[in-house]
Amino acid sequence: MHDIWNPWHGCVKCSEGCQNCYMYFLDKTRDNNGADIYRTGGFDYPLKKDRYGNYKVKSGELIRVCMTSDFFLEEADDWRDDAWSIIRQRSDVKFFLLTKRPQRVKDCLPKDWCEGWENVFLNVTCENQTRADERIPVLLELPFKHKGIMCAPFIGHVSIEKYLEDGQIEQVI
Ligand code: SF4
Repeated sequence: MHDIWNPWHGCVKCSEGCQNCYMYFLDKTRDNNGADIYRTGGFDYPLKKDRYGNYKVKSGELIRVCMTSDFFLEEADDWRDDAWSIIRQRSDVKFFLLTKRPQRVKDCLPKDWCEGWENVFLNVTCENQTRADERIPVLLELPFKHKGIMCAPFIGHVSIEKYLEDGQIEQVI
């Protein structure tokens, strides 16, 4: 089962794929501004338990993180250590991170990251060839156990064959 965890909400547009950001669109329909960035009330959602004391997010589930923001957003730097702590505590859950800011990732990893945690997947967005050529080489150098590429929104020709050759990319969406 797939679940969503939005520890913070709001974002800063940073590339062509942000032009029609659905989060900005949905916020506008509710008279909100997607540029307002805040820590959400669901920050500790992966640690929530039901009345029987069991985690609501079940062991083995895949949870998509920051679907209304970017996990590596600069404005979220003060909150990220707490989010890492939650991810560390739920090593039985798979956390799917997607970013348009892979150049920030290295400096945002926790001290005990080493070669990466088995339960964390990192995808970069490649909405066109320029962003593919910018972001995938950075991704390939990062210490993650699981790496992938998300071509969405698909707004231009994208060729990624050369980046698949060394076998690091597990998944292309
Ligand atoms: S990075 Fe994602 S959430 Fe942030 S503005 Fe761009 S499309 Fe929207």
